[in-house]
Amino acid sequence: MIERYARQLLIPHWDQDVLSAALVVVVGVGALGTEVARLLAQAGVGALVLCDPDEVSESNLNRGALFTDAHVGRPKVEAAAAALRAIAPGTVVEGRRAEHARGVGLAELRDADLVISCLDSIADRVQLAARCGLVGAAMLDGGTHPWGGEVRWYPRGGPCYGCGCSAAERALPSSSMACGIPDEMGASAPISAMVASWLVTHAVRVLFGLPVVEGLVRLDPVAGESRRVALAADPSCPLHEPIPARFVTRSGLTVEAAVGALLAMTTSGERLHAWNSVDPADRYGPLDLSAAPAGSTLGELGIAPGELLPVIRNGPPEHVRYIELATSRPNGRDLR
Ligand SMILES: [Zn+2]
Repeated sequence: MIERYARQLLIPHWDQDVLSAALVVVVGVGALGTEVARLLAQAGVGALVLCDPDEVSESNLNRGALFTDAHVGRPKVEAAAAALRAIAPGTVVEGRRAEHARGVGLAELRDADLVISCLDSIADRVQLAARCGLVGAAMLDGGTHPWGGEVRWYPRGGPCYGCGCSAAERALPSSSMACGIPDEMGASAPISAMVASWLVTHAVRVLFGLPVVEGLVRLDPVAGESRRVALAADPSCPLHEPIPARFVTRSGLTVEAAVGALLAMTTSGERLHAWNSVDPADRYGPLDLSAAPAGSTLGELGIAPGELLPVIRNGPPEHVRYIELATSRPNGRDLR
């Protein structure tokens, strides 16, 4: 393994041990996400959680770094994980085929060494920023334009993605997380690769504890420029109220557990909620897990591993506490 990394070990401040111990969550596994994952794995990051609900389409093949013709029709996270295992067998890769709020739990965002957003819509980025805000997690975000892109670093305690959005943008419902660029906007491999390279350079420096440019960097290869834009915190941004740790109880239950097992951990005056609708048909209320069939597993209800589920006690005084689910352990190995 030392020989594999011999050249990067020559880089000042490079710390392979830090990388091999790191867990990075990559949300969105389209053009940007696949290239980010490839670079992280090749650099020797120990564990990657990849999250995306979509399947590989033929129109992804012009820029999806890990996708081939044989992957068309397969879930993006499965195709990417298979390709990464061939490129970097030392990296543990877990694919979550789901929208991010159903695929990566709040405790996983909290405990990850880094969360990288490779999403393609304002609404989905706001939702991820909100979830990172609930657990005080930093977020690194990238985006592409037809001939350029942006890299945004939101360290813990600083401005978040939502600070740069209007109240109306912050209120947008999260859309289906299509991770390709919207069909009407041009997108190509060189631009995705450029933004991904910046993101992963930021990422490894964050992991090493080295200084990273805060705020937004606008990349404009046509003008031959990269330009830094300072970001200011918006005092009215509501995404900065982390859940106090004292209100969180670890359950030890995974998403394989039946909802009844979780309900048994609540009292009669409490209601167990989910963050998202647990039933597309709204047969038992969009957020209320108390009414879901007791035999359903949490995974079947769209609950993410490592999720923090709100338990609301009816007032007065009304009070919210949270039950933490255990994270999954791919291949029997702890992700940590
Ligand atoms: Zn904010």
